[in-house]
Amino acid sequence: MNAANPVPNLAVANVFKRFDPSSDAIPLMLDSPHSGNIYPDDFNHACPRTNILWGEDAFVDELFDHAPGHAAYLLACQFPRTYIDPNRALVDLDANMIEGGWPDPIEVTEKTARGIGLIWRRADDTHEFYDRLLSQAEVRNRIDTYWRPYQAQMDYMADGIFKRWGKRWHINCHSMYSPEYAKVLNNPYTPSTDIILGDRDGTTSGPAFTNAFAEVLRGEGLSVALNDQFKGVELVRKFGDPANDCHSVQIEIDRGIYMDEWEIIKKPGFDALKAALDNALGKLADYIRVEIA
Ligand SMILES: [Zn+2]
Repeated sequence: MNAANPVPNLAVANVFKRFDPSSDAIPLMLDSPHSGNIYPDDFNHACPRTNILWGEDAFVDELFDHAPGHAAYLLACQFPRTYIDPNRALVDLDANMIEGGWPDPIEVTEKTARGIGLIWRRADDTHEFYDRLLSQAEVRNRIDTYWRPYQAQMDYMADGIFKRWGKRWHINCHSMYSPEYAKVLNNPYTPSTDIILGDRDGTTSGPAFTNAFAEVLRGEGLSVALNDQFKGVELVRKFGDPANDCHSVQIEIDRGIYMDEWEIIKKPGFDALKAALDNALGKLADYIRVEIA
């Protein structure tokens, strides 16, 4: 993270930083699985680095670093999702990328087919990541050294919260490229709102939490759509269980509001957006305090 450089309560170098509540904790955890930008030395991708930087949800961890001040937990991933994606299941792997295939179970999804499964194959329309097959050993290393510790830390936070309160709320934090940048990627994609909240069509969160989140964001002047194009992927699926009072919602924020997507630098709108998210999260924390009272 940036300027303020908050000190994590726990850090595993190049893997994650965890920030704990600075006041009486509430059962709310946030995670930013795609803002990591420490590129491992053994990545060895063939395409230019500039062609894959768009894969980062740059600055998203920083947009939410006020979470501990609102009594919530925050986990920030440090490695890039293009190396191995913490928001994908282990089975979401393309065996054709691996020398000798893959011995473990695989379930090819629409994301695998598009080259954006657990380990990405396609950088964009014209660039493949690799000009070689990956070895089984390097895939295993990405899983064991990066993916598993991130998941283990999510499990640790989630289990601890549920044991203590018997309820849990989770916000999975992301950004989406702007319509202008979508043209660069040749992606037929047209978000029409500042923010899209996803709860996989109501399966990972009760409507009360999703709607409360949407309302506090709208209260800050942000336009919000629900389950429009981005509905949430693996982490909300894993931690959302509304029947057991575990609510998990994905937030996608339009990068065009706060960053120059070509230069990967903040725009002047960053501070105002961060302040708006800070206000919204404060109100959402109050909502949760009522729910556990
Ligand atoms: Zn993301």
